[in-house]
Amino acid sequence: MSKINLSEPEVQAREKRLGSITGFIGTASQLVHCSRNKELEDAPRSFSQCMGCSSSTALCQLSLIQDAVVINHAPVGCSGDFAKFDFLNIVGQVERNLPKTQGRYFSTNLEEKDTVFGASEKLEFAIREVYKRVNPRAMFITTSCVSGIIGDDVEAVANALTEELKIPVAACFCEGFKSRIWTTGFDSAFHAIVRKIVKPPQKKTNKVNIINFFGSHIFDELLGRLGYQADYIVPYSTVTQLEHISEAAATIQICPTLGTYLGAALEQIYGVPEIKSPPAYGIKGADNWMRELGRVLQKQEEIEEIIKSEHERVIPKISEYREKLKGKSAYLTAGAAHGHAIIALLRELGLEVKGAAIFHHDPLYDNQDPASDVLAHAVHTYGDVKNYNVCNKQTFELINILNREKPDLMVARHPGMVICGAKLGIPTFLMDDEQFGFGYQGVINYAEKILETLDTIEFTKNLAKHSRLPYTKWWLEQNPFKYLGGGYCAKNY
Ligand code: SF4
Repeated sequence: MSKINLSEPEVQAREKRLGSITGFIGTASQLVHCSRNKELEDAPRSFSQCMGCSSSTALCQLSLIQDAVVINHAPVGCSGDFAKFDFLNIVGQVERNLPKTQGRYFSTNLEEKDTVFGASEKLEFAIREVYKRVNPRAMFITTSCVSGIIGDDVEAVANALTEELKIPVAACFCEGFKSRIWTTGFDSAFHAIVRKIVKPPQKKTNKVNIINFFGSHIFDELLGRLGYQADYIVPYSTVTQLEHISEAAATIQICPTLGTYLGAALEQIYGVPEIKSPPAYGIKGADNWMRELGRVLQKQEEIEEIIKSEHERVIPKISEYREKLKGKSAYLTAGAAHGHAIIALLRELGLEVKGAAIFHHDPLYDNQDPASDVLAHAVHTYGDVKNYNVCNKQTFELINILNREKPDLMVARHPGMVICGAKLGIPTFLMDDEQFGFGYQGVINYAEKILETLDTIEFTKNLAKHSRLPYTKWWLEQNPFKYLGGGYCAKNY
């Protein structure tokens, strides 16, 4: 197990901590082999079209804690994502019947002179001012490239203001330049939460932590049947709720790419067992995951009954959907673990997976347990994926590949990628609710969504006819991995 160290203000970037990479081309089974045998090499790109930032993924979790605030210690340009999370905040509150509050995110607006004279005093002023205006239960200070480079002692400021204001003021170190893997920002946010918010357990409860994004509440019924209660974290939770997650009976990860650090931290520090099976995508995936849940919660008999009745309910329907989807092929692009889950779902429904562009790869998660390897599970259960590309949203690669592979369907996890399929006339859907495909019902949900999307073929072709790609014929005829070197790199694609 990689040791979680709460005495350090910062969590190490994934590249260093887990050996994660952002460049690879080969087969999924080669990637699994390299990961298991410590042979994984990053294939660097000599040209990169875009990058994500850890500050945004940290904000993705911290900004939706309902009674906390976030102060971004940064130039105001780094706050470009505030509007997105304010929108998610409002939408999620409406869906969950929560009191309506605007997202409370602030920027210290670092300027040129701050880079010369330092900006710790400016940060102190901002913290006091925000406290006066908003009176939050906790504050998170997210850092930026600028605050990191000028060397402001954000941890010292946060500690001093915690003393003064008598609320947790937590530094969250998420400078974009420190990691090419933007999911490092999730780890930074969770590190800040576990260090400064979570309290040691006073008792054990019947709650089960669900580390998720903003998905539907699909665990209420299942856990209710087992005598447990789902506690969805971190988005839309409160500071009080987070203080007690150390008392839970177990932790479920909807996606280990998101929750690897928090799941391992709660287990290592407070003994909350993490469900380590890959999440329940596909029938066999759901069976494995359910049995692991039953073992951890000591509800094996009840789980076997649920598995039996769910098989009886969904397997005949899935056979019908397989018939309808016979001969269809798909390409997908998504974050790591969720992408692996989509591979399992597509294969479960009998689609040919022509390839995948997955944003990064973690050879192991923080629990260091190979049993949690979602890609290995997808490969061993459903077979290999020939054209497996680790690609941190390089659209130029994706367009080139889609233009060659011409799948019947594309599945995208992030909104910006959907347009790539549509512009090429490929029916494409965005899957932004990771709970949608989870469990037995998830396979049915996916089948229906796929059929619905395939029906848009005429519309999508028409759309493509009236669209222009920014890429030239020259690029579309190149090897899509022309700018990817080293590692397992298919030069003769
Ligand atoms: S990469 Fe650096 S400058 Fe850009 S948004 Fe992230 S923290 Fe700000």
